[in-house]
Amino acid sequence: MRVLVVEDDRRIAADLERALIAAGYVVEVVRDGEEAWFRGDTEDYAAVILDLGLPGMDGLAVLKRWRQNGRVMPVLILTARGSWAERVDGIDAGADDYLPKPFRIEELLARLRSIVRRSAGHASSVVSVGDITLDERQMKICVGGIPVTLSPLEYRLAAYLFLHRGRVVTQQELSENVYGQDDAHDSNAIEVLIGRVRKKLGAGAIETRRGFGYLVPERAP
Ligand code: CA
Repeated sequence: MRVLVVEDDRRIAADLERALIAAGYVVEVVRDGEEAWFRGDTEDYAAVILDLGLPGMDGLAVLKRWRQNGRVMPVLILTARGSWAERVDGIDAGADDYLPKPFRIEELLARLRSIVRRSAGHASSVVSVGDITLDERQMKICVGGIPVTLSPLEYRLAAYLFLHRGRVVTQQELSENVYGQDDAHDSNAIEVLIGRVRKKLGAGAIETRRGFGYLVPERAP
């Protein structure tokens, strides 16, 4: 899952990047408002973590411009501790949730999972389709109650498809969310990965829609 982190404090940005990568996300970090606005306007992210105090354009202005342009990705804003005005302004500008600084990384990850889930239209962190269960918190997939061993790439691919079940996901969208945009990968790589995940989860777990992409059906066939 591809996440944009917008934070000008290098230490916080580095901590966030490390924690998000460890939690299975594909992470891009930018440090100023102009660059953040451009990326969020032209690239697709599963979620954005947005600091409000930024050089150049501030976070609130960035968020307002995204929403005015119809960019609907979930956004978690980082606000100054105790500043209720910042929180109110942020939510009015279209933020999905907020977290006052300083924060615990565990809380940030929980809120991030929650806004990503809600934007995909789901309420629970445990997803079941047929006999396959995805537990996002534990980063674990079970088939018939038995845990399956997946590589980080295989997990990212399966989790992205399960979270967006009922929708056909293109090969490009999958590639961006599994490998990140900066790593160029040929379409073969995704096909090979799909094949490996099917072997572990069952051939029918992921459907191929020729010419369109891949689909985890809402209900097991
Ligand atoms: Ca800042």
